[in-house]
Amino acid sequence: MKKRVAVLGATGSIGKNTIDVLREGRDCFETVLLSTHRDISGLLALSREFPGAALAVTGPDSALPKGVYTGKEGLLRAIAGVAPDLAVNGIAGAAGLEPSLAVLDAGADLALANKETVVMAAPLVFALAKKKGRRILPVDSEHHAVSSLLEAHGRENVEEIILTASGGPFRKRKREDFARITPEEALAHPTWNMGPKITLDSATLANKGLEVIEAAGLFNMPPGGISVVIHPQSIVHSMARLKDGAVYAQLSRPDMRLPIHNALYYPECAPCSWGRLDFTGLTLEFEAPDFEAFPMLPLAYEAARRGGLYPAVYNAANESAAAAFLAKKTGFLDIPRIVDYVLNKNWNTTGDFESAETLQIILEADEKARKIANAYILEKNLC
Ligand code: MG
Repeated sequence: MKKRVAVLGATGSIGKNTIDVLREGRDCFETVLLSTHRDISGLLALSREFPGAALAVTGPDSALPKGVYTGKEGLLRAIAGVAPDLAVNGIAGAAGLEPSLAVLDAGADLALANKETVVMAAPLVFALAKKKGRRILPVDSEHHAVSSLLEAHGRENVEEIILTASGGPFRKRKREDFARITPEEALAHPTWNMGPKITLDSATLANKGLEVIEAAGLFNMPPGGISVVIHPQSIVHSMARLKDGAVYAQLSRPDMRLPIHNALYYPECAPCSWGRLDFTGLTLEFEAPDFEAFPMLPLAYEAARRGGLYPAVYNAANESAAAAFLAKKTGFLDIPRIVDYVLNKNWNTTGDFESAETLQIILEADEKARKIANAYILEKNLC
């Protein structure tokens, strides 16, 4: 029987890679739901290719064919109504959280590229997955690598998770030049071809910060047991150090279709042509990350150590700061300044800050963090 698959964020970078895997696997998969935020022509093109799939558009209202689910609520209804076997969540940012919960609630496995789901709501998401007996399959390349390493060697034998990071386009840039970095420069990633938000996050290392928090949640590892190493070639996707000191790594060419392929076929190890590595002339370099030049990384460790709602606040403040930078309203160096300011506001007056156990509390913290970030941008006249 074919696996019934939903693709959330089907017109984005993860979505397009997922569609490639589904095209190759027509004998194994039936595409039952496709969603986009605003690329309606892209979605309609996909619907001609996968005519049986329900369609959802979450972005601003526009003229749509009859039967298309609209708005955030429409997408949540579509997920519940279609009840897929598995959904790939490639939605960018905090907007991916509620669809992830809807996928698990509908009794589907969740192939998760939306790291914000785990960053914002790990306890909630894992409790729901457990209650429904469903799996969360990480599609982020690093977490996909770690997940396969833990499966191979046993979580109980692993003492350290080592996440690799490309280092982004500014690894070799002089720090005194950081203030002049433009959005155009920040959106040119050296190894991965991705959407604008995650590409900017890779340039500030906020993406790696989010991945540290994501790894802590996914693999039940304290932040102290997770380290980051810069590896500019993006060939080693991550590593695990076992208690005996031996380090195991997962390697492939940087191609998101490999982790997506493995999540779609899980638990089967199906033949796959993507990401195959040729070692001829290959050089692999590693170096320590510069925590001073890229404060988004230590700020993420701080948020992860504090726990509770702080990771959600880190994420929301970063989304606001990143949007302001991409709109040319703030400078590159303002991004960590804004996030630092928001994280260190006196949050304890806002109630139960230790617990990220309900969606409402999480969404309130997210909204408040964005308000504080945006007020700070206005007040400091950063724009
Ligand atoms: Mg990643």
